[in-house]
Amino acid sequence: MTLRVLLATRNRHKLEELRRILLANGLDAIEVVGLSQVRQFPESPETGATFEENALAKAHDAARVTGLPAVADDSGLAVEALNGMPGVLSARWAGEHGDDRANLELVLSQLKDVPDERRGAAFVCAAALVVPGSTEVVLRGEWRGTLVREPRGTNGFGYDPIFLPEGQARTSAELSPQEKDSMSHRGRALRSLVPYLRELTRE
Ligand code: IMP
Repeated sequence: MTLRVLLATRNRHKLEELRRILLANGLDAIEVVGLSQVRQFPESPETGATFEENALAKAHDAARVTGLPAVADDSGLAVEALNGMPGVLSARWAGEHGDDRANLELVLSQLKDVPDERRGAAFVCAAALVVPGSTEVVLRGEWRGTLVREPRGTNGFGYDPIFLPEGQARTSAELSPQEKDSMSHRGRALRSLVPYLRELTRE
């Protein structure tokens, strides 16, 4: 029997990524649906102080309204020289929500005088699973690297053109989507939910 799991997002790439991860782990009994495939409901603003809080809040809202097991993620960039910021404010660091170029330029200008050895950063993702009346779990994936001085590459989004993953010579915007999935914070966080999702298929 097919089990429907809601991924609380409208982002097609995130939906495809979770589907790929489930298939790779033999969980073909799970059908992943997105927010555009369920009854519409008002989505709360992301006001949490942590990625975990935001991911759990999104998953709780989605599970409550639809009655489906719900997965949600929240992610961002944590820069050491900025004491972990932009963090949960990553999408709106330059003021306007989702202005990727302005966000990246602001971080670069803030780090202008920071020497190479103090340009460490990590992409962080919290992935939550809420099953109505039962499981609630939130797990974190991190992807460590450094920030380069000039944007490079055209793949990906957000801060990808300035993020040089540990052990790589290319920024995450120069990696193929498949390469990025296999290393990224989101891939790691979503993969860590696999045992919990597998458990659901056994119930
Ligand atoms: P969200 O969790 O999809 O809302 O992402 C929040 C923000 O974090 C995005 O708008 C980006 O600025 C940043 N971000 C999260 N994940 C990535 C990534 O994989 N690459 C580049 N930027 C990211």
